[in-house]
Amino acid sequence: MRIDFMTLFPDMFKACLEESIIGRAITKGLLDFRYFQIRDYSENKQKKVDDYPYGGGPGLIMTYQPIFDTFKAICETVSERPYCIYMSPQGKVLTQKKASELSKMPHIAVLCGHYEGIDERIIEDIVDEEISIGDFVLTGGELPAIVLADVVGRLVPGVLSTEEATISESHSEGLLEYPQYTRPAEINNKKVPDVLLSGNHGEIEKWRRQKAVERTKSKRPDMYEAFENGETF
Ligand code: SAH
Repeated sequence: MRIDFMTLFPDMFKACLEESIIGRAITKGLLDFRYFQIRDYSENKQKKVDDYPYGGGPGLIMTYQPIFDTFKAICETVSERPYCIYMSPQGKVLTQKKASELSKMPHIAVLCGHYEGIDERIIEDIVDEEISIGDFVLTGGELPAIVLADVVGRLVPGVLSTEEATISESHSEGLLEYPQYTRPAEINNKKVPDVLLSGNHGEIEKWRRQKAVERTKSKRPDMYEAFENGETF
């Protein structure tokens, strides 16, 4: 899967996306992440990419031309126009279900805003979907884009090994994941539940399901209600 990032700060991505599981997937060629510096496409002599908002108000707005030409340059390298996402606090909040849908796309382009946002006409002309990572406002779209790339990237087949499979984890079935333990079997007078040491896979499955239900009920009653109503993921 290919993801192209349109950004004023490409260096922000490397440390997060070139390490660990996602970094390994890039090396293996399962993920192809490319960075496009919006400033490089500015026709302005000083390579300016922002300007004052019409009508007044605080801050600066990213201008139309450099963003449009960045996206055009991306489109010119491929036969099919990528699905264009704008990271925005006004978008639909990212969910595991949305991430799963996006992970099936061959190519997406992610636009990162900065300052007070971007010229509205860019949204009208190139953006297919606005996605938010939560009901709060960040200084720029780079961290949200990294979150999106990580969430979507790990769902691309082959990125996680089978042991790391995503089937029973939190949010994938509408329930939170059951509690997990690793060695030692006892520490600070706290023992791992006996059932997990029993080797009885049927009982272990039953226990895990019960714990997943219990903790979803107590930690995320909203999620549990949706699960009970069959609004599964
Ligand atoms: N003035 C804008 C916010 C601009 S924040 C408004 O009120 O809607 C600057 C940039 O950060 C945005 O263009 C967007 O790309 C990014 N951003 C901020 N919060 C975000 C969030 N919760 N999810 C995704 N992107 C966000």
